[in-house]
Amino acid sequence: MNGWEKLCKEFREFRDKRDWKKYHIPKDVSLALFIEMGEIAENFLWKTPREIEELKRNYQQSEMVADELADVLFYLISLADSLDIDLIKAGENKLRKNREKYPCEKVKGKAYKYTHYRKSSADS
Ligand SMILES: [Mg+2]
Repeated sequence: MNGWEKLCKEFREFRDKRDWKKYHIPKDVSLALFIEMGEIAENFLWKTPREIEELKRNYQQSEMVADELADVLFYLISLADSLDIDLIKAGENKLRKNREKYPCEKVKGKAYKYTHYRKSSADS
């Protein structure tokens, strides 16, 4: 069992031993994901790039962000479980699609959405 599989197993055990699986329906887990994303963003709200750099070196603050990232990760695992989605496969598939949508030779150093490149190639 690799690290990812072990973490997923431990999360499921944590959830199931508390009889919380019944609450992990996709609608509520999706909402929980938004809330946890807000908790991540709260750590950066109104901070300058310099203050964020300082946050990275502050163990307590950095751990707070890591905890919120982990909350998001656990809800993602739960949501994927509910929908019978293999997150690793989903990630691999999406990365393959993104490589096709964003070929290096067209997009390197640019941050436009892929639709921008379709328009510019149609225009030229
Ligand atoms: Mg949280």
